[in-house]
Amino acid sequence: MANLDDLPIRESLKGRVPYGAPQLHVPVALNVNENTHGIPEVVAMDIITRLAAEVLTINRYPDREFVELRDALAKYLGHDLSREQIWAANGSNEVIQQILQAFGGPGRKALGFGPTYSMYRIISDGTDTEYVDAGRDERYELSVETAVAAIKQHSPDIILLCSPNNPTGTPLSLEVIEAVYSATSGVVVVDEAYAEFAYPDTPSAITLLEGRERLMVSRTMSKAFAFAGARVGYLAADPAVIDALRLVRLPYHLSAFTQAAALAALSHSELMLSAVADIRVQRDRIIAELIEMHLDPYRSDSNFVLFGGVDSPKDVWQQLLESGVLVRDVGIDGTLRVTAGTEAETTQFLDTLREVLKG
Ligand SMILES: *Cc1c(COP(=O)(O)O)cnc(C)c1O
Repeated sequence: MANLDDLPIRESLKGRVPYGAPQLHVPVALNVNENTHGIPEVVAMDIITRLAAEVLTINRYPDREFVELRDALAKYLGHDLSREQIWAANGSNEVIQQILQAFGGPGRKALGFGPTYSMYRIISDGTDTEYVDAGRDERYELSVETAVAAIKQHSPDIILLCSPNNPTGTPLSLEVIEAVYSATSGVVVVDEAYAEFAYPDTPSAITLLEGRERLMVSRTMSKAFAFAGARVGYLAADPAVIDALRLVRLPYHLSAFTQAAALAALSHSELMLSAVADIRVQRDRIIAELIEMHLDPYRSDSNFVLFGGVDSPKDVWQQLLESGVLVRDVGIDGTLRVTAGTEAETTQFLDTLREVLKG
C-alpha cells in the first residue's frame, strides 16, 4: 500500500491534516457541540412519512433550486427574507466551501480571527485560498480596532467572522461586523452556527443585510436544531451572492431525502428547538460550577464552554474519557471545551471532572 506522500498531490496540500475530532462511542459525548437531546417522536414520524413519499420518485433528480426548502428557511429566519436571499447546502461547511470557491481561490486571501473554527483554514487550503489568522484581544474578545487593523494590514478578499466564536464561545457585536464591512471591499461572512443559543435580545447579523450586498450570514440545522446527521446548512445574503454560489455548486447537491427531511423538521421548528432553553441553563450551570472548582471558564453565548486553568489538558481529557465522558481538547494551552448536554449528562461531566481534579 502506498502512502499519501507517494501520490502526486497538489503542492499546497502536502503535509496538511484533515479535520479530526475523535468519533468515539462513549456514554456521554460532549465534544462536537451537537444538541444531545433526541428529536421529538412526532417529528421523527413526520420525517419518515416524507422520506417514504420521496422514495417513490427517487429515480428522478431532486429540485435543483430546492425552492420549497428555501421558502421554509426564509420563513424560519423571518426578517422579511425571501427565497431569492436564501441558499442551502450539505451543512454550513459546504456553504462556506462554496463561498471560498466563488470568492477565494489562487491569489486570493481569507482572513480569520483565531482561535476560531478550524474548518476555515481547512476549507481555505482545499480551495487554494491563502488563509491568514489575525488573532484576538484579551480573553478572545474581538474589538473594532483589532478587526479593522487586521483588514488594513492584510487586505483580505474574504473575512470570516464566527459569531459567537467557536471554540471560545465569545459573542461578537454588530458594531464589529458593521466596522469590518466598511473597512473592506471583500466579502464578509458571519457564521452564526450557534445563533439560537444566544440570549433573546441578541440581534442577528441578518438585520444588517439590507444595503450590504457583500455581507453573508450562515446558519446550520446541526446545532440548536438537533439535526447534525442530516447535514443541512444555509445562508442569507443578497440575491446576487446566491447567483455567485450557483456558479460553483454541483448540480442537485441537496438530495431529495435531505430536502424532505429538512422540510419536515422545519415544519416543527418550535418543537425542534424545545431543548434550547434547557441547554442554556446547563451552559450557565457549567460556567458557575467550573468557577467553584477554581477553573476559568470564558463567557459563552453558545451551547459550549471553553475553560482554562487546566494544568494538563491531555491528561484530564484522557481521564474523563476513561470514565465515559468525551470533551474536546482544541489545542489551546491549559484549556478544554465542553458541550452543554442534557441535565444528566452535564451532571455526569461535572461530577467526573471534580473527581479527576481531586486526583
Ligand atoms: C458546527 C459548526 C458549523 C456547522 O457545521 P455543519 O457543516 O453545518 O454541520 C459551522 N460553523 C461553526 C463555527 C461550527 O461550530
